[in-house]
Amino acid sequence: MSELRIDGDRLWRTLMDLAKIGATPKGGLCRLALTDLDRQGRDLFVSWCEAAGCTVTVDEVGNIFARRPGRNPDRPAVCMGSHLDTQPTGGRFDGIYGVLAGLEVIRSLNDQGIETDAPIDLIVWTNEEGARFSPPMLGSGAAMGVFTLDHVLDIRDSDGLRLGDELARIGYKGTVPVTGHVMGAYFEAHIEQGPVLEAEGFEIGVVTGAQGQRWYEATVTGRESHAGPTPMRLRRDALAGAAVMMEAVEAIALEVGGDACSTIGRVQVHPDSRNVIPGRVWFTTDLRNPDSDALARMDAMLRERLAAIAEKRGLTLELTDFWAFPTTPFAPELVDRVRESAQRRGLTHRDIVSGAGHDAVYVARKVPTTMIFIPCEGGLSHNEAENIRPDHAASGCAVLADAVLATAG
Ligand SMILES: [Zn+2]
Repeated sequence: MSELRIDGDRLWRTLMDLAKIGATPKGGLCRLALTDLDRQGRDLFVSWCEAAGCTVTVDEVGNIFARRPGRNPDRPAVCMGSHLDTQPTGGRFDGIYGVLAGLEVIRSLNDQGIETDAPIDLIVWTNEEGARFSPPMLGSGAAMGVFTLDHVLDIRDSDGLRLGDELARIGYKGTVPVTGHVMGAYFEAHIEQGPVLEAEGFEIGVVTGAQGQRWYEATVTGRESHAGPTPMRLRRDALAGAAVMMEAVEAIALEVGGDACSTIGRVQVHPDSRNVIPGRVWFTTDLRNPDSDALARMDAMLRERLAAIAEKRGLTLELTDFWAFPTTPFAPELVDRVRESAQRRGLTHRDIVSGAGHDAVYVARKVPTTMIFIPCEGGLSHNEAENIRPDHAASGCAVLADAVLATAG
């Protein structure tokens, strides 16, 4: 197999050109889905794809498909992609890197006159971030049948504007049926959005799958009473009990170990007054693990331990399931291709599990899929200061190219 040469300088220039649209004073990006700025970014991307000889189509939720034809039009496309929308105070690389690394692969194939057997598609998924229209990953979710088309088009932003109307307004309400796009394989390059690769000095993360997640809401109820006249032994302090529960939640991930994570992100105390013993505390819990058995074990530990703490302290506990996302193993043969490419190119690499949600996680439900991570500075993402190194960008792009070429033939 011939090794494709990647033009790292061109990739970096392209990243910087797209980062001008929606640039924030602090060096980040604000390009929310289906805004005028999103349209400008999409238009520029489409013009680049057309200049690279691709045929561009758009589906009913605004997902963009740029096709570089192959020798064999009957083969399903080998796909690359990610997203162009950002958080309100987002960075220049989250999502955008994966799209433009894909564009650089296509440009390099053109420069070196390389034909592939299968067609190659470069995809931009609509509203990955979920910042304007919630939940996240709506475009890829709709394409994979996770959400119905009508449901997605009817979602409104905080100003009451409908996703379907905004799509039409910016000119990206396409006609390709949303579940009709045939994909043979999908590769998504992305910044890690965490600190592991940088801290351990690796250039490439070989992503073997995505963590499963379980989200809960807990309400702990005791009895409100006066902070002075109520002796300690007669209290039913919901916050003191919740504090012990929070320690137990942290201990679950520490005990299970590996990639297990447990987080309490929101807490509300009632009545929230400095001389009243709190009668009620509400908090959220987020458990994650790439191993579904271990995640089930964490779920059992959570239920058992919080209930025991509540009982011991005379509190009542209501623990409800809020949301869950199964563990997603990626396609082993594609994961191997990524690892082999990193090896052959002499790049340092380690296997890693995605801790965040990505379009690839929905695509993996129907299509053989994997991801390629590159380090980001300080592990920082969803932040205007998000940054990557140009040489890492080029390395990830080279691995993406090799894996796509090996799959497309
Ligand atoms: Zn992203």
